[in-house]
Order: sequence, then C-alpha cells, then structure tokens
Amino acid sequence: MGEAAVGEGPGGASKLEVLSACFGYDAFRPGQEALIDALLARRDVVGIMPTGAGKSLCYQVPALMMEGITIVVSPLIALMKDQVGALTQAGVAAAFINSSLRPQEVGEVIRDAKAGKYRIIYVAPERLSNPLFMGFCTAADIAMVTVDEAHCVSQWGHDFRPSYREIARFVAALPARPIVGAFTATATAQVRADIAELLALHDAYVLVSGFNRENLYFSVKRPKDKMATLLEFLGQRRDACGIVYCATRAGVEEVCAELVECGYAATRYHAGLDDGERLGNQDDFVYERSRIMVATNAFGMGIDKSNLAFVVHYNMPKNLESYYQEAGRAGRDGEPAVCLTLYSAQDVETGKFLISKSYEDGDHDWEARQARQANDLDLLKKMTWYCTTSDCLRGYILKYFGEQAPVFCGCCSNCDTQFEAVDVTIDAQKVISCVMRLERQNRAFGKALIAKSLHGSKDKQVTGRGLDKLSTYGIMAEVPVKRIMDIINYLVEKGWVSQSNSEYPTLGLTERSLEVIRGKAQVLMQLPKLPKAAESEEGSEAQAGTQAGGRAGVGSGSRAGGKDGAPAGTQAGMHGHPELYERLVALRRQLAEEAGMPAYIVFSNAALNDMCRKLPRTPEEFLSVNGVGQAKKEAYSAPFTQAIRDYCNNSQGQAPRVP
Ligand code: ADP
Ligand code: MG
Repeated sequence: MGEAAVGEGPGGASKLEVLSACFGYDAFRPGQEALIDALLARRDVVGIMPTGAGKSLCYQVPALMMEGITIVVSPLIALMKDQVGALTQAGVAAAFINSSLRPQEVGEVIRDAKAGKYRIIYVAPERLSNPLFMGFCTAADIAMVTVDEAHCVSQWGHDFRPSYREIARFVAALPARPIVGAFTATATAQVRADIAELLALHDAYVLVSGFNRENLYFSVKRPKDKMATLLEFLGQRRDACGIVYCATRAGVEEVCAELVECGYAATRYHAGLDDGERLGNQDDFVYERSRIMVATNAFGMGIDKSNLAFVVHYNMPKNLESYYQEAGRAGRDGEPAVCLTLYSAQDVETGKFLISKSYEDGDHDWEARQARQANDLDLLKKMTWYCTTSDCLRGYILKYFGEQAPVFCGCCSNCDTQFEAVDVTIDAQKVISCVMRLERQNRAFGKALIAKSLHGSKDKQVTGRGLDKLSTYGIMAEVPVKRIMDIINYLVEKGWVSQSNSEYPTLGLTERSLEVIRGKAQVLMQLPKLPKAAESEEGSEAQAGTQAGGRAGVGSGSRAGGKDGAPAGTQAGMHGHPELYERLVALRRQLAEEAGMPAYIVFSNAALNDMCRKLPRTPEEFLSVNGVGQAKKEAYSAPFTQAIRDYCNNSQGQAPRVP
C-alpha cells in the first residue's frame, strides 16, 4: 500500500474499482472519466455538466485515489451535510466545517483531520480565511482543492458569492500547490472565463458535457386556470416528491396554502421567511415529511435530493439558464421525471417588472446597468419563446446551450401532441407586407399592434395611430390575434422578421423577409394535427392561408387541458413488482429514520427499482445492485434481502427462484 502510485486507489484500486466498491456503480457517466483522468494526471480541471449529471463523483473518486486530503469548497450548509452523509454511507471518512458547528465541534473535526481521519473535508468559502483552519491546512498534505458550484465566483453568474474570491488566495498560501478542480452547471462563456481567471487555474482541462438529460420529460401548458392544472398534475402523482417554483413570495404563499388545503403534504420556502422556518421547511422536504416544496428561486442550489419526480414552474422563469438548472433538479437518480412549465402572458409582464426592479438602484455606472438590463430582457424573450414555440422543447433548450438537436425528440409535450408542418406562407406574407408598409413610412410598431391591425381590430391603440388606414388592415380577419402573434413570434425566431431590443420592441424587415414576399421561401410552422371530424367539416382542400387560423384553438387548447404523455405518477420503474417496491420504500424510510438520514441518501429510487428487477437474495447478489457498494452491502443487505426473500416466497403467481 505504501507505494501506491498516482492513479491508484487504496490498495492500488483502479478508478472503476473505486466506483464500484464505494459507490456501487458499474460505469461512468459521460464526461466523468475524462475529468477523473485529468485530475489523476495532476491537472487543474473545469467540469461543466448539467445538474444531475454527476459532478460530485468526478472529484470524489480521484480524492480517494490520491495521497493526501481533498478540500471541497461548497456554498451551502445543506449541500455539505448531504454530501458528507452520502459519503459516510458509502464508507468514506468525510467531514464538513461550517457555521452550523459549534466552535468546540470545529476543533474536534480539525483534531481528527490532523490525525489523518478524513480523506475529504467540505468547507464553506468563508472558512478559508479562518486562521485556525489555515493553520491546519499549511501543516497538512492538501492534495486537491475542489470548488463546487464554481459559478459563484463570477458576478455574471446567478449566485455571486464574494467569499468565493478568497479561494485563489487560499490556494496560493498553501506550501505546496494542490490541484484545483472547478465544477458548475452554468455554461455561459463569461462565467467560464471568470472561473479560470478568478480561481487562478493553471492550464485547466475544460470539459463541457452534453446538456441533454434523457430521463426528463419537458412540458409546457398554457392553462386558463393554473391551479386546476397543477392539481390535476399532482393528482396523478400522489406518492411523488417534487418542487413547485413560483415567481414571487406571494405566489408561493398562495399556491402552498391551496395545496395544503387540498390535502397535499406541501411546505414553502422563500427569502421572506425567517431562517428557522426556512431551514425547518427545507428539512421537512429533504426528510420527506413534506413531499412538495413550493418555493421561489431562492430554493434549491444546495439541494441534492435525488428522487424528485417533477419540477413544476408555476410561472415562467426569467431565463433558460435558471430554468434548466431548476428543472434539472428533477430525476437526478436517472429515473423518469417531468419538468412542467405553466405559462401565461402575465408571466412575461412579471418577468419584465422583476428585471426593472432589480436595476432600480445599484452601482452608478448607468451605461453598464442599461447593458445588463437589456441583456436580461433578451434572455427573458428567449425564455418566452421556449414557452410559445411549437418546436420540440428539448431541441429548443439544447440549441440555446449551443448544442445540435434533432427536430423531434419524442419526449416532450410538443413532440407528443403530434404536430404537423402547416404551410403558413400566405399568413407570413401578410405580416411582412404590413411591416414593409410601415417601414416605408418610417414607422415601426410592436407585434401586438401589428397583429391587431392585421386582424382589423377597432382598438383605440390601432385607430389612434392610423393603423386602420394601412392597406393591410383587416386582411387577417379570420385569424385570431393570438394566432397572428404566434406566427409573428415564429417569424422572429426564424429570422424572417427582426425585432428590436428596445424597451418597446418593434418589428422590422430582414434580408430574408423579401424571400417570403417574393414567394421564394416557404414558411412551415408546426401545428397540431386536426382531429379527423373537424378536418372533414372544414373540407379537405382548406386554403393554406386560413388553415393556421382555423387551427388556432386546437393549438393552445389541447396543450392546456389535454392529457400529456408524461411519465406516469408512480416512481416504481418497469419491473413488474410494484408491491415489493412499496415495501422497500417503507423499509428505506424506517432505516433512514433510525439513522437520522434523508431516505434518498440510504438508497436512491433507482437503486430500489434495480432491486425489484434483480431480486437479490444473498449479500453477494445484493452487491450487484446499482448503487450498492461494499459499505452499503455491509449495512443493508440483511434487511433488504430479507424483505425480498419474504416477498418472493409469499407472492402468488410469482416464480420464486430457488436459492
Ligand atoms: P450534480 O452535482 O452534477 O448535479 P450529483 O453529483 O449530485 O450531480 O449526482 C447526481 C446523482 O447521480 C447522484 O445520485 C449520484 O449518486 C448519481 N451518479 C453519479 N455518477 C453516477 C454513475 N456513474 N452511475 C450511476 N449514478 C451516478
Ligand atoms: Mg452538485
């Protein structure tokens, strides 16, 4: 053991052996291996992977294979508690130091650390400038410093933490420079550059893993009654845990009260609650005394709860970065999960209001502030498009993050409602000719007014500006205004019409506009297929131009109330043993309570499902279950295999295996 080379774990174990023996997994997920290899070759790394991709293992595996101690800088107390709990369950000696410990407890941890008890120590960034802690680190062998949620170092990220700026100083003050690894889910170029610079990384290996999360089902609904839709959604998922995000504190209060009223074990979290209640509610959720957390975006960064079956956005969030991070908290265990957004036009107004409010006061650099505000509005616009597009939702997200995506993913509400391409070229020509006429008069208007004018609205805003005098006035009388807006949004998204970035965005022509006018481009828009009956009523040869109008109601209507193809409510996977699954869930809860641990730290749902598939009846068989390493085998094989044996022996119609 003394001569263990770099790249070998305790006793010379390989990284795969560590993965299997400690964590109970038999393969790395995409990106993990490359980052682990780089760290083991003593190179700094930046790992950018979506939430739930498995960043922790990227530094935990090498930490167990190196000589010396790994310090993990982590922003939130709950996060540290979770991670240390999970490591302890996996048989790894780990500890955390943060303000939740009393000074005496901190002293004990440091004393144990000095005695070589821990391989991995989690600390809050503030701790790095503490003399006692610094004294320990300079005397100890610190092999690696890992920065979790590394975007906190950048003021362009969404969770800037000034104390993260201490990290580089801390690393530089150590007698021997450790390897530094930085991990985050935030992918913007600016944040990435800040991470490398502000953490003073040396020639870092940067890995950006794919942003696709296959087990997530994306869904957008535009219901008239959001609460009714939410209740229907939750009613199909009675035994599942999840988060409902609201844009405002008032929204949280209202939704949470309603859910509690309807008998749901829901709790709430927002910055307006006092610390005690917030932490208490968070604990209730983590320990599953409450299944549903209703929260503002203040909730979640520190929560690694892996068994969330859904994340609902009751309001549209402010940008896709936040959205994907929040939605990505669903299904970290790899099990199917649903990410539902309930959109209304009012959400856009709320979003704009919140942005303008956040810039009300601040630094005095007016121009910089304007630039950032314009940027925020632009991000909000792209979020709105996500909610209104009829394209594949997954595709939209992936393209936003700069990835290629197929047109049809087959696992989102848009793909599921069986859209078909409808030719809206004639409608598009009408829109563009209206914009063109205005441009010739040196005038420009926003899409709402243009849509109303095309529809022939007698609205004062239209007539007052003389928009009823245009020759295009009323030429789309048969198409509802909302549908005209959809078409305009689509034209803007595809670059057939431009939209300015000003406070009141106006429409303009692009080079491609003329292609449409001249009939050189065909504009196809995804619209839901018509039900058979309606089709025959309308006549099979409906004019292309009116087709869009005729279908308007179908588009939003079916999405609003209709049944979606989202994964079913139960969290039991495809193994045909729902009854056993329920028993194992109960057993897990009991054992977790005894150990004072959240249930998902004892075993993930994925592990329970795997038990139902493999039906292990001996400790050795138990070890083959996904998520069972040596330590969990020792601790849990007896009660779980017992439960499985009982089930197999008692269940009728089952072909129990003979030991
Ligand atoms: P992130 O920090 O990237 O959001 P985590 O590190 O919290 O994600 O990991 C999410 C979940 O994925 C955890 O439950 C973890 O145990 C699991 N996981 C990580 N790597 C693997 C793997 N190679 N195989 C199976 N599960 C994994
Ligand atoms: Mg993480």
